[in-house]
Amino acid sequence: MKKNKRKAFIDASKCDRSPSCPARKACPFGAITQEKKWFFKAGVPQVNTHLCAGCGECVKFCPRGAVKLV
Ligand code: SF4
Repeated sequence: MKKNKRKAFIDASKCDRSPSCPARKACPFGAITQEKKWFFKAGVPQVNTHLCAGCGECVKFCPRGAVKLV
């Protein structure tokens, strides 16, 4: 897995807060967490920058284009 100095950043204004966030599920480092709210809405996923390796996997999986490496 490629390491990168950049880290994932989630643009809350683009995020649809799906409880089944594919970017969260795609992270091989468990760096993205998400607060559960109710059945069809969750919190905006949060990136733990200490765990994020900057691999970019999550960027590929977000259907809203809400994740980028900064
Ligand atoms: S860039 Fe890689 S390590 Fe960082 S949150 Fe995304 S998938 Fe996880």
